[in-house]
Amino acid sequence: MDSVTQIKEYGIVGAGGAGFPTHVKLGSQAEIVIVNAAECEPMLHKDKEILKQRTDIFFRGLTALIAATGAKTCIIGIKEKHHTLIEMLNTKSGDNIKVVPIRDFYPAGDEITLIYETTGRVIEAGKLPITQGVIVNNVETIYNIGAEKPVTTKFLNFAGEVKKRVTVEVPLGISFRELIDFAEPLIDDYVLLVGGPMMGKLVDDLDEVVTKTTAALILLPPDHCLVRHYRVMASESAVNKIGKSACDQCTMCTELCPRYLLGHPVQPHKAMMSLVFTDETGETTEPGTHALSCCECNLCSFVSCPEGLYPSTVTVNTKRKAMLKKLSYEGEPLNRAHALADYRRTPSRRLKNMLDLNRYPDEGPLVEFDRKPATLKILLHQHIGAPATPLVKEGDLVTVEQKVATPGKNLGAEIHSPVNGRVERVTDTFIQICCVEQSCVEQSCVEQKQNCCVEQNKIGGQ
Ligand code: SF4
Ligand code: SF4
Repeated sequence: MDSVTQIKEYGIVGAGGAGFPTHVKLGSQAEIVIVNAAECEPMLHKDKEILKQRTDIFFRGLTALIAATGAKTCIIGIKEKHHTLIEMLNTKSGDNIKVVPIRDFYPAGDEITLIYETTGRVIEAGKLPITQGVIVNNVETIYNIGAEKPVTTKFLNFAGEVKKRVTVEVPLGISFRELIDFAEPLIDDYVLLVGGPMMGKLVDDLDEVVTKTTAALILLPPDHCLVRHYRVMASESAVNKIGKSACDQCTMCTELCPRYLLGHPVQPHKAMMSLVFTDETGETTEPGTHALSCCECNLCSFVSCPEGLYPSTVTVNTKRKAMLKKLSYEGEPLNRAHALADYRRTPSRRLKNMLDLNRYPDEGPLVEFDRKPATLKILLHQHIGAPATPLVKEGDLVTVEQKVATPGKNLGAEIHSPVNGRVERVTDTFIQICCVEQSCVEQSCVEQKQNCCVEQNKIGGQ
């Protein structure tokens, strides 16, 4: 089996948040491979911890990635402030692997921005990096290639109002409730933000579970400014109403937009202006195809707009509508960096101040996760593409790393069991597996000995 097919079999997807199936990305030959180690959102730490503590597996994955793509050059793009880590990476890197320190700003980890920062190349609006010979992969994705086994765990870190501000490697399908209990909340009344502060989402249902793209669990007090922002942004009508009446078209949102600064057509102030041009149903009449190059970083809402409006929400909604209508941008984007691009970056330190995050220690050392969950709920849609189709039925016994769902010929990713156990439920959206040690043996299986995992298969715990 060639390495790209093996990566497909392992169910590896972009672990940086996108969830794009990695084998599809590696289906093309590239001139340059870039490792996205920017980890630009405040309070995220998992990638640095993987580089520090799982170094050999990461480099094994990187070597395989370079071989699979035929790349002549590999660049590791990492924030210049991580001096010790950069020194360590330099000692491990060969002739074809270069560590490129980048400035500490947001969103340095945006793929198009990272390519510009590390190579000086500007990827044309609407084009994929591979059209200019570049492939970008996140640290954890490369680690998963180096691990040479199916993806059944996820690295994530806890931040905010918790005692344990640490990074852990946890089984896919474990509930947020169980993880929060492990992290030890410091306040009773908290709101959960899943993902980074800038691009995360508020989650009210703590029984939601970890997927292949979960990066962090951040606990915040209900009156925190980020909670207020995300609550307002959840309502399109509220955002539009405020935007329509209060936007003075100062264009600050556009002037500081990272994609606009790289010559892409997106102009959030135009999306805001379009709110006043609507048809009889209230829908905007301006197609807004410029919004297709928005990377959804939220910088324009959380930092740039002096009026405290939400141009990112308006722009992203405009983008979604243009995508649904299958529209494309027909103008002539500049596709070259703005003369002031290098001077209009948003420093991470300023961002943390503005988001009131400096009150929390910014740390996340990798520690062992010593809990064994009783059940795991494995989602069938953890990636870009079609949901996977279950290969197991209720009552089946499964072993750790056994494939339990497949996308077949569709774009998607294979899914494997993180544990030895018994399939409890199969639905259109998830497979629930009870783990052998706690539930099967102690409760149900001993009562049905002929089907007992331990009796039949001599399966131990994880
Ligand atoms: S920065 Fe705010 S007020 Fe200025 S144009 Fe953008 S949305 Fe309008
Ligand atoms: S969210 Fe705002 S700042 Fe970010 S790319 Fe989109 S329009 Fe630009």
